[in-house]
Formats: sequence, structure tokens, C-alpha cells
Amino acid sequence: MDCIEKENPQKKEERKPDTDRIRLEIGSLSKNEEFARVVIAVFMSRMNPTLEEIDDVKTAVSEAVTNAVIHGYRQHPGTIYIEAAITGQELTIIVTDHGTGIGDLKKAMEPMYTSDNSGERSGMGFSFMEAFMDQLEVESQIGKGTTVRMKKRIGG
Ligand code: ATP
Ligand code: MG
Repeated sequence: MDCIEKENPQKKEERKPDTDRIRLEIGSLSKNEEFARVVIAVFMSRMNPTLEEIDDVKTAVSEAVTNAVIHGYRQHPGTIYIEAAITGQELTIIVTDHGTGIGDLKKAMEPMYTSDNSGERSGMGFSFMEAFMDQLEVESQIGKGTTVRMKKRIGG
């Protein structure tokens, strides 16, 4: 029997010998945020990070996942997709939700901007992600969801 295997670009990426990758799907519950943070910390430990680097990444993951739970899914059930990849000394983390999406991204990313008016949030999540990681990219579409891509070089 003939077997035709089509080239899947994602699979090709996975075969890259120098990239180590994990994917995680979690339900959009606040209590799962800690789980995501710890999994990423364990995954990046093979890069010999300093404690400060681990804390920086954990904070950034925590902010992105919390945003997906609170703003993306507005506390309703949904799935948050977390991907982490190590290429040499570079760590990439991608957090995606298929929630509400962000209308004005520029405004949302300004320090101290929050759409929350309960007084509980300070509007500093994106600023922390930017400060603790080397690179932050956000893509979002109203009604479709949000993808946060962050990179950090570990170990100088
Ligand atoms: P804090 O993070 O300090 O608790 P915050 O979550 O409001 O407050 P940011 O994390 O900086 O602050 O996010 C700014 C705003 O961007 C949010 O108030 C929200 O309106 C919007 N936002 C962020 N992430 C998402 C998301 N995943 N889906 C929909 N909207 C989002
Ligand atoms: Mg936030």
C-alpha cells in the first residue's frame, strides 16, 4: 500500500534538532495559572537559569495566563494554549486564548491602563511582561482571541 505523507510545517519545526518544545492546554480557571507557571519553570530549568530568570519568566507567564482567564474568557470556561520552546539560550513562550480579544491594543498595552473598574486591577500586566522578558508581541482580534508571544535569553 502506498503511503503519502504530506509535509506539515509544524512537524518540520518540531524536528528541528536544536529546538525543544512543549505544549500545554489548561482550562481557564485561576487555579490552573499556578500549574502553568510551575510547568514552564521546570521546562526552562534545563537552560541553567538563575533564580531571578526563573522568577521573571514565572511572573510573565502568570500575567499572560491571568489575562486570558479574566479578560479573555471573562471567567467563563475556555481553553488556554501555552507553548514553550528552547532554542539554544533563547526561551519562547506563547499564550493563546480564543476569548473576547482586545479592541485597542495600543491602549491596552499602556502602563496603568485597565478595562477593569472594580479597582482590583492595576493595569500593569503587559508592562511586567515587557519588563521581565526581552521581547513581547501581542496579536488580538475582537471575538477571536489573543496571542501573547514572549522571548527571553537565558544565561547572558
Ligand atoms: P493587572 O494585570 O495589573 O491585574 P490588567 O489585567 O487590567 O491589570 P494588563 O494585564 O496590562 O492590565 O492588561 C490591560 C488590558 O488589556 C486589560 O484590562 C484588558 O482590557 C486587556 N487584555 C489583556 N489581556 C487580554 C486578553 N487575553 N483578552 C482580552 N483582553 C485582554
Ligand atoms: Mg493583567
